[in-house]
Amino acid sequence: MANFPFLRADLDSLRAYTPHPGGPVTQPLDHLDTNEFPWDLPVALRETLMGRYREAVENNRYPDGSHHELKMAIANYVGQTANGQITADQISVGNGSDELIRSLLIATCVGEDGAILVANPTFSMYGILAQTLGVPVVAVDRQETDFQLDLTQAQDAIAQHPIRVVFMVHPNSPTGNALNASEIQWLQSLPEDILVVIDEAYFEFSQDSLVTHLEAHPNWLILRTFSKAFRLAAHRVGYAIAHPRVIQALEKIRLPYNLPSFTQQAALLALAERELLLKDLPLIWEERQKLGEFFGNLPHFQLWPTVANFLYGRVTAASDRQKNQATMEKLTADLKAQGTLIRCTGGGLRITVGTPEENQRTMARFQKQWPPTTP
Ligand SMILES: *Cc1c(COP(=O)(O)O)cnc(C)c1O
Repeated sequence: MANFPFLRADLDSLRAYTPHPGGPVTQPLDHLDTNEFPWDLPVALRETLMGRYREAVENNRYPDGSHHELKMAIANYVGQTANGQITADQISVGNGSDELIRSLLIATCVGEDGAILVANPTFSMYGILAQTLGVPVVAVDRQETDFQLDLTQAQDAIAQHPIRVVFMVHPNSPTGNALNASEIQWLQSLPEDILVVIDEAYFEFSQDSLVTHLEAHPNWLILRTFSKAFRLAAHRVGYAIAHPRVIQALEKIRLPYNLPSFTQQAALLALAERELLLKDLPLIWEERQKLGEFFGNLPHFQLWPTVANFLYGRVTAASDRQKNQATMEKLTADLKAQGTLIRCTGGGLRITVGTPEENQRTMARFQKQWPPTTP
């Protein structure tokens, strides 16, 4: 058999993204491993969306490649969370924020001697997408007390590597913490030749945005998504908010018709009905509180505070970190066998806040597995 020498050799070390590690999901399960919103759109909105499909989607026509109407609607929504006005030329829309992350890497690092900086544990896509583009990834640690990034390490990394982009999540995934004052101060101190990306995928859950900083910092960019609080993960829509110059670069790089017509309809409807959709956020906060009390009182388990729609904690039964890691991996598999999917990542467990029924089952299943056994 040929060895396909036309393929890049460095791709051999990469693995294709698997949403549910450990094999495909067959039986109906509680999906608490991908931080989606636990409920679909209300039935009346689903009906409205079907009507939009009938009336507004022309299957034989390309979608609106300018995204003009959607950008206007997004600018209006974002403006509500900012002190000033946001205009459509400050917005670019992607097929999920994943597409925007890839476009950003192309716009900044590809073909240049540029690297990106991430603080682990964090969202894995920055590193994965950078690797597929041959862009070096410099990773620094976070302190384990509160998962603040190690500012000394980060500053050294900036001094030693040709960092062109810093990726921060606010609040971070998987650890659930928002950027604190010293982290924000450090980001503000970065020179203007570094792009600072603040990923606010969980903004609606934390209600804390850095959009107001954009005006003073033309080298900052904010990423948001419709995949989480807006319940549209199936439709793949994300957006970037930044200076028009940066937005123009993203617009040059994206594929011409990156957002299907029906996806645009779904996003427009969700924004028009945002009051209705976001009215359910307090239910998530209540459930998060319940889960927090349960996991906070679980022996041999350390839970960290969270402002997102997921919780993060670690098994601490053994003094040895590797043993605890093995225990958590086995626990994740055992829970899956019982019907609950959670994510074992970043040296801990990430558990999405689900419906009250799902959360009840999660707590009962943890209780049943406790104390977890080391394989
Ligand atoms: C879920 C998530 C996203 C959303 O990605 P999409 O491609 O828009 O679905 C982005 N960033 C982080 C940190 C996330 O957790």
